[in-house]
Amino acid sequence: MEIIRNPNAMQEIAIGLFKRSVSVGFVPTMGALHDGHVSLIEASLHDNDQTIVSVFINPTQFGPDEDLSSYPHPIDEDIERLRSLHVDYLFLPTKEDIYPQNYSSYLEVQGLTNRLCGLSRPTHFRGVTTICSILFHLTLPTLVYFGQKDYQQTLVIERLVNDLHFPINIKVMPIVRDKDGLALSSRNQYLSESERIIALGINQSLGIGEDLIHEGERNVHLIKKAVTEHLSKSKDINIDYISICHPKTLIELTHLTIGKVFIALSVYLGGVRLIDNRIVKLAN
Ligand code: AMP
Repeated sequence: MEIIRNPNAMQEIAIGLFKRSVSVGFVPTMGALHDGHVSLIEASLHDNDQTIVSVFINPTQFGPDEDLSSYPHPIDEDIERLRSLHVDYLFLPTKEDIYPQNYSSYLEVQGLTNRLCGLSRPTHFRGVTTICSILFHLTLPTLVYFGQKDYQQTLVIERLVNDLHFPINIKVMPIVRDKDGLALSSRNQYLSESERIIALGINQSLGIGEDLIHEGERNVHLIKKAVTEHLSKSKDINIDYISICHPKTLIELTHLTIGKVFIALSVYLGGVRLIDNRIVKLAN
């Protein structure tokens, strides 16, 4: 595995691969790699001639009161893991290389970004679309891999790629969970042992919503009430949002009539923000 730190060097390699018609899979990450990231990387290794993984804790997607300064950064472990997976290139730029002092360009997708996570993180998606655009230009990928764990992010990136005609395709991979159902996240390591147990309520409450829908419940208010009640069993959980919405537009629903619905939630637990979701197919 080659480690590339300089953006121009990364782009030169990418141009070389492009000219030779080598298919390139790209997996953007913020590091602290877990099996969720690995599932994306393995898919890329399987689908493409070459795989580039980036590890970059992107400052522009963190709000002023968020966890940028404490975000985990076990880079030696990450490098080891990527080497053992036989990734071809690790792109590992510095903050200063990506955002030099006179940096002043931002890209924004409108509409989709004002919903769900965008409500409590108003500058988050602008940071995500900006860094993804930079990384796409530096790595020139054929296929880029994202996780359904950050479902809204996948919709926003798909919109960006379509609107601005980036010549790339997006592949969305399923959520990888621990055996007990907790969705893997780099932020799980902030949780204490007792918070880790409380966090199981997140996936359980989504399951309750899903079961109600499968049993025929179509009243969104009642489904949200059951999900809220389960989450509220722990006083340590503060609900940011529970959304039952259209899986493409993220517009909130009041009564379920369409083929698929998206159930998503975000909670704060001991100061840690956790998200999870489900796409639920409605039986006719
Ligand atoms: P992050 O390092 O948190 O920015 O995540 C990098 C990529 O990994 C994103 O596309 C995430 O959606 C994806 N990802 C994070 N957690 C999981 C998970 N539990 N299962 C699948 N993909 C994930």
